[in-house]
Amino acid sequence: MPDVSIGEQCTLGKGVFIGQGTTMGRLVKVGNYANVFGATIEDEAFIGPQVCILQDRAPRSTNPDGTRKGHADYVSLPATIRRGASIGAVAIILPGVIVGRYAMVAAGSVVNKDVPDFAFMAGNPARQIGYACVCGQRLDENLHCACVRAYAVRDHAIVPVAAAK
Ligand SMILES: [Zn+2]
Repeated sequence: MPDVSIGEQCTLGKGVFIGQGTTMGRLVKVGNYANVFGATIEDEAFIGPQVCILQDRAPRSTNPDGTRKGHADYVSLPATIRRGASIGAVAIILPGVIVGRYAMVAAGSVVNKDVPDFAFMAGNPARQIGYACVCGQRLDENLHCACVRAYAVRDHAIVPVAAAK
């Protein structure tokens, strides 16, 4: 499609659709049959199979006067997937949503509002059920990961700190 930019070393699976205006950074993986409509996807993000990233809050095939809608006949509100975030299989990202850095969206989630950095999200509508490590695992209640990385709360967000012993 027009106005698409794909960075170096990205992987696009079978049957992927990349819509007009989509921008993708480096080292992004997009699973089979994913649909990406105009989103900005930053470096190292993971888009699972059959994920749908939407951009039209009021989808109609036709205008109120019955004429066929074209690309100029709707307001594009693209989503943003920040660096290193993962979107699980078949999850849906609604228009305009920003998924934070290294967030983890569970398979089948429907994400209708912005997601903080490192948040672990699940459900419909998606709710935050914890935090994710850069390695992909869920943090424990002390914000430690089995991989020995550790995090701390700073200004209502979590940030990596020195590894737990
Ligand atoms: Zn970890």
